[in-house]
Formats: sequence, C-alpha cells, structure tokens
Amino acid sequence: MRHQAIGVLATNPAAAAHQAQLFRELTEHIVVLAHTAAPLTAEHLEQLEALDVRVVEGEVTSIEIDDSDRLSGVRLADGRVIACRALVVAPQTDASNDVLDALGASRSDDHGAPGGYTHDESGATPATGVWVAGNVADPFDPVVLASAAGLEAAAAVNADLMTEHVHAAVAAHRAASTGTRPGHPIARPARTVTP
Ligand SMILES: Cc1cc2nc3c(=O)[nH]c(=O)nc-3n(C[C@H](O)[C@H](O)[C@H](O)COP(=O)(O)OP(=O)(O)OC[C@H]3O[C@@H](n4cnc5c(N)ncnc54)[C@H](O)[C@@H]3O)c2cc1C
Repeated sequence: MRHQAIGVLATNPAAAAHQAQLFRELTEHIVVLAHTAAPLTAEHLEQLEALDVRVVEGEVTSIEIDDSDRLSGVRLADGRVIACRALVVAPQTDASNDVLDALGASRSDDHGAPGGYTHDESGATPATGVWVAGNVADPFDPVVLASAAGLEAAAAVNADLMTEHVHAAVAAHRAASTGTRPGHPIARPARTVTP
C-alpha cells in the first residue's frame, strides 16, 4: 500500500488517530473517515493536520469496487465518494471465556471495553488455582508473547503443584515423627494479584 490512498474508518476516535499516524508511515494519502465515531480531540486534529491527513465528516454507507474487483473508495450518506485503495478498520477484541468466568476469574477494563482476564506476571488470576496466558490474558499479544506467557504460566503452575506436594510431604513426615494425624496437607498463603 506504499504511496497509495488509504482510508481509516473511524469507530473510535483515539484508535482512528493512532491508525492514521501508523499508516501515514506508509503513504502520504491518508483520509480519516469520521463515520460514526465521537469527535477527534483537538490534539489529534492538530497532529493529523500537521501530517496532511484529511478528516472527512459523514457516515460511510457503502464501499466502491472498480472493474478489476478492487476497492476504489467509500460512499458517504450524502452521496460523496472518497477514493481509497484500502480501508483500515479497528477490530474489537473480547476475551470472554465461560470457563474462566465460572472459575471466578475476572476481566480488566480496557478503556471502557472488557480487556483480558486480570493476572499477575506469572499469569495467576485472583481465583485460586487459575492461571491465564495468551490472548485471554492480553488480547493484543502477538504469537511470540502469547507463547512466552504460556511458558511463564506453565512454570508457575508446576511450581505451585510442587509446593503443594512439598507441604503435604512435610505434614505427613511430621505426623509420622510425632505419631499424630496430618491435618490439611497444605496451608496455602493468601494470594494478592496485582495486574
Ligand atoms: C486478525 C489478526 C491478525 C493477527 N496477526 C498476527 C501476526 O501477524 N503475528 C502475530 O504474532 N500475531 C498475530 N495475531 C495474534 C495471534 O493470533 C495471537 O497472538 C495468538 O492467536 C494467541 O494465541 P492464544 O493461544 O492465546 O489464543 P488463540 O489462538 O485464540 O487460541 C485459543 C483457542 O482456545 C479455544 N477455546 C476458547 N474457549 C474454549 C473452551 N471453552 N474450550 C476449548 N477451547 C476453547 C479457541 O477456539 C481457540 O482455538 C493476529 C490476531 C488477529 C485477530
């Protein structure tokens, strides 16, 4: 898309401004289609103006396709056609997972939208015995970070199980030494998760 016209379909003003700035690195022909998004901030408008990015008001109602079956533009509600060869749309992510909800894990807030499940560095959630990794923890993580988080969480789960086994063994060992019955095999410390 280098040096070609790119339209940014705004549904969220901050995301649209960010995308316009990102794609401005590829081409000098960027147009932000205000569409149904809330108004851009004065700061964003200044930045876009400085980058020669046009902001076009009006709701986009359809896309235009040329004879070679390529995108040629978008049509606005008032009939105007704005030329573009690609249209950028901000995806919305949702880490919702019934299993995690049922286990008592909770989702963090991502600028008003539900984000990933709350967790600490190891992936531990506030729900006892529940770890998360990958996009369910951080919806925007790419593969390499998602898989690294899986490794961290697996190591933490293993360490947790090992600790439980050690505590159980020590409790049984003490009981055998003193001739008393072992109590609960593990006294888990209360866990506070700081995301
Ligand atoms: C459009 C798009 C483009 C992307 N491009 C890139 C890219 O170029 N490079 C890059 O590194 N990353 C990219 N990513 C991100 C990449 O997809 C993620 O980093 C990766 O998929 C995260 O892996 P994951 O295992 O955490 O989640 P997922 O891959 O989503 O795997 C989770 C799996 O769990 C399954 N599941 C959910 N609930 C249950 C349940 N209750 N029981 C059983 N199974 C369940 C789901 O069906 C899914 O198969 C892109 C993502 C998107 C959406």
